[in-house]
Amino acid sequence: MARLPGGGLAKGLAVTLRTMARPSITRQYPEVQPDLPPRSRGVIALLEENCTVCMLCARECPDWCIYIDSHKETLPAEGRGRPRSRNVLDRFAIDFSLCMYCGICIEVCPFDALFWSPEFEYAEYDIAELTHEKERLREWMWTVPPPPAHDPGAEPPKEVTAAARAAERGRP
Ligand code: SF4
Ligand code: SF4
Repeated sequence: MARLPGGGLAKGLAVTLRTMARPSITRQYPEVQPDLPPRSRGVIALLEENCTVCMLCARECPDWCIYIDSHKETLPAEGRGRPRSRNVLDRFAIDFSLCMYCGICIEVCPFDALFWSPEFEYAEYDIAELTHEKERLREWMWTVPPPPAHDPGAEPPKEVTAAARAAERGRP
């Protein structure tokens, strides 16, 4: 079919007029913080108290960017028992210049010590500064959103059922 002369120009002008009539959607960051989805992968936070230094996260990390140091501590024997030894975490650091935010470390941690935080404002001028130590990773725990509510009618978590049973047993 033959094209009308100037048809392309008219189409282009129609697009321009349509776009001009739409309201602007410019984000006013950093004055206004973005409204991020709850499961945003901003940075990895560490709940140090839960970490048993099992090294699973460091072993499974495909980028080898988790650095862990620890030492053993012997706890004195209680009563007639034997002294117990436990791992004490000395260093836990993640190099975010290597991390590819795959989340494997969070998935494999058997003790719920690693979490996604939506925090994203940790850019640095020097790439070496992107290795963050456990103190900073612990601070990010305050920005981790609470877990989503269970579906109505879903089974209660195992911990809640176990606690309820224990309370039942302890009742006179
Ligand atoms: S998110 Fe992936 S790449 Fe980053 S530290 Fe965890 S396992 Fe390693
Ligand atoms: S997998 Fe979890 S408990 Fe084990 S070293 Fe990593 S953060 Fe700590």
